[in-house]
Amino acid sequence: MSNRIVILGAGESGVGSAILAKQKGFDVWVSDAGTIKPNYKDVLSNYAIPFEEGKHSEAEILSAAEVIKSPGIPEKAPMVKKLHEADIPVISEIEFAGRYCTAKTICITGSNGKTTTTMLTYQLLKDAGFNVGLAGNVGQSFAWQVGEKDFDYYVIELSSFQLDGMYEFKADVAILLNITPDHLDRYEYKFQNYVDSKFRIIQNQTASDFFIYWAEDPVIQEELKKRTVSATCLPFGFTEAPANGAGINNDTLTINCNKNTFSMSIFDIALQGKHNAYNSMAAGLAGKVLNIRNEKIRESLSDFKGVEHRLERFLKVHGIEFINDSKATNVNSTWYALESINRPVVWIVGGVDKGNDYKELEALVREKVKAIVCLGTDNKKIIDYFTGIVPDIVDTQDIKDAVRASYYLAKDGEVVLLSPACASFDLFDNYEDRGRQFKMAVREL
Ligand code: ADP
Repeated sequence: MSNRIVILGAGESGVGSAILAKQKGFDVWVSDAGTIKPNYKDVLSNYAIPFEEGKHSEAEILSAAEVIKSPGIPEKAPMVKKLHEADIPVISEIEFAGRYCTAKTICITGSNGKTTTTMLTYQLLKDAGFNVGLAGNVGQSFAWQVGEKDFDYYVIELSSFQLDGMYEFKADVAILLNITPDHLDRYEYKFQNYVDSKFRIIQNQTASDFFIYWAEDPVIQEELKKRTVSATCLPFGFTEAPANGAGINNDTLTINCNKNTFSMSIFDIALQGKHNAYNSMAAGLAGKVLNIRNEKIRESLSDFKGVEHRLERFLKVHGIEFINDSKATNVNSTWYALESINRPVVWIVGGVDKGNDYKELEALVREKVKAIVCLGTDNKKIIDYFTGIVPDIVDTQDIKDAVRASYYLAKDGEVVLLSPACASFDLFDNYEDRGRQFKMAVREL
């Protein structure tokens, strides 16, 4: 069999995979149909790894024994279809790197809350003195680190696109936070396909592994009726904590695991909001599985600084609190943002609509939102929906106008919340760019 590995897509995961494959003695070749960032080109050149950009040369690619595909390239891309027709295995970076990883892995997926829970879990392990790496969608790619570093543990954030290319990989601890419809364009508009992708997080697990999941999620509940789970289950939710699992009762978070109980007041948790209580239970359960001491878990959960662009309370101007939740790119995450705030809100919303159903937000909006500032190139759907529900609705297409309008509408003691429930590509490069521009505009007030 040929020793040739082709990497499709030369971003963070592709370049990391190329380096690891080269180190392992494969004949590596990299192909990117777009442009490769100059720093990545330098890295490939330094490792003497041949690459092409601006095209996919079919003959070169079809000579591969195996292909590692970047998560950004959809299954329906013509080149991927040809690989399937030629019966050439196509895997993800995590699957490939997993073959060479001897560390224990804590893998986190879900429709919302992945990055927050990944960072929180990583912080917990780090504070407890573990030799731990952070990988997946955040920071340096897993493959790159497996090639160059020597961690005993990895906390890995996994998107459904990464999970799609995983077959033999096994998570020692798997966390499934929630499942709501997202990215359906990549799943033939079949929700079940997306659900199956998320459930790959528990594939290959055995009784000595752990599966931490949100017990109250209706989609997860339904799915668990159809599946056999081999791992030890540790569900979390808002009822009393089971013998093995976590819950919140009378404002106290309780985690039971390994015949040991951890508890703390939810008011001492650094990250506020119901969704963050879920994230904290998930991270705390992972901590208990690894036998981290209760005091350490308490310290980490109460000191965690949060992640930029996720309900980030960054500035008060004349008593008005500005919150950057630019990462809320779907209705579900905005629901949790509104739910977590107990003061009148001026809500900045809008961008590229992903088929949003604003009905899901209506009750919370009626209760909490005093004014809406629409920010996008097409605000009509939002204006149509909320006219008659919210007294003030302003139409803007520029972040500075949106910030000025919201400042004008808010009063001392109130909140201006950017939680767009939409993608950012109409006016911004990405959600980070949107969040940064928002913060800059607020600081200029
Ligand atoms: P992901 O990496 O899955 O996109 P993030 O941690 O980046 O998740 O958070 C994305 C958005 O979802 C933010 O607006 C955040 O406030 C919200 N969020 C965080 N955790 C949850 C959760 N458990 N359920 C619902 N929404 C959440």
